[in-house]
Amino acid sequence: MPLLTLQSVSKSFGRSKAVDEVSAAIERGEFFGLLGPSGCGKTTTLRMIAGLEAPDTGSIHFDNLDITNLPAERRGFGMVFQNYALFPHLNVFENVAFGLRAGVRTGSDSDRVTPAEIKDKVGHALELVQLPDFDNRPVDELSGGQQQRVAIARAIAIEPALLLFDEPLSNLDVALREETRSELRSLVNRLNLTAVYVTHDQEEAFALCDRIAVMHQGRIMQVGAPREIYDQPANARVAKFLGRNNLIRAMRLTSTNDPVTRFRTIEGGHTLRVSATHDQLMQLPVNKPCLLAIRPEAIEISTAQVRDSNEENEMLAHVEQIEFSGATTTLRLDANGLKLEVLILDTNILTVYEECVVTLKSDRIRLLPEK
Ligand code: ATP
Repeated sequence: MPLLTLQSVSKSFGRSKAVDEVSAAIERGEFFGLLGPSGCGKTTTLRMIAGLEAPDTGSIHFDNLDITNLPAERRGFGMVFQNYALFPHLNVFENVAFGLRAGVRTGSDSDRVTPAEIKDKVGHALELVQLPDFDNRPVDELSGGQQQRVAIARAIAIEPALLLFDEPLSNLDVALREETRSELRSLVNRLNLTAVYVTHDQEEAFALCDRIAVMHQGRIMQVGAPREIYDQPANARVAKFLGRNNLIRAMRLTSTNDPVTRFRTIEGGHTLRVSATHDQLMQLPVNKPCLLAIRPEAIEISTAQVRDSNEENEMLAHVEQIEFSGATTTLRLDANGLKLEVLILDTNILTVYEECVVTLKSDRIRLLPEK
């Protein structure tokens, strides 16, 4: 039984639909990401889970209870915002103690914690975010990274039933972001918490989340583990959004629904054998256009001299551009009009204008619906 369930949740502002029939089921102990470009409805979805925004239609269940109309302060959820949202006039201790004093965990007056318990819990939370002895510091004298840690301490101090993050690391510089990211993940694991994490940053979502919902224009387009959505994007939009991808326009050639089917690329006229599922092939008549996707790092490359014979899914190409970026190098290739981007580790194998042999292995190519 999932811990949190969203059932066909929608929300409009004026005439525009920010969230459109979103359904999701989040398991206990899961780190769940909402990933998508700016304006796709991630924050609005999170705010509805938090109780800061009411859905127009649909329902939200938590631990078998319908919480759709339950006020935020009675949900017992911890929330961490991008801008920290600390109280500038309070010191670190009082900021972290805020939720405890307000009885956020249960929303009940009778369950308020005693001053001694508050001291204990705040001290423990500050230790967990590695800010012990910061109790009396005014928050406006802290660095951005320290302020974000205080915000995280405040969210975990109430021992939240669910932890919600809205782009919490976006304001930190790259090095600090990566460090805080791995600390955050181990903290959530250690405390056995369930988290929903909003981000537009694919790398961050991949590093943190057990599963990710990829959103576009208010809708969830695909839910899956990072590797799954990276390797098997549901459509061209997901494929493009999740890192670089070669999207090749093609037509299906053979009519038999074999697991490996032949396609002809529209640019370049190359014949490619592609692994596809029975369901995918049932939806794609012969000669209907489709998209084939292959990741730049999945393309194999060798110098033209070492070509054996006409191997399957091999083509000749020439190098148009070489872009060195440290650990990896990007080659831009032209294979008889078909442009390909290839990511390699060994910089020295080719030079610009040189001919090479490109192999697109059939099991590394994904068949995507045209739309
Ligand atoms: P970002 O990463 O930029 O925050 P997002 O994916 O979180 O984007 P939302 O903030 O959920 O997206 O916004 C979704 C859509 O709803 C956007 O078009 C936004 O302008 C609109 N929107 C969100 N909140 C409001 C509001 N309070 N009033 C009017 N429109 C809103």
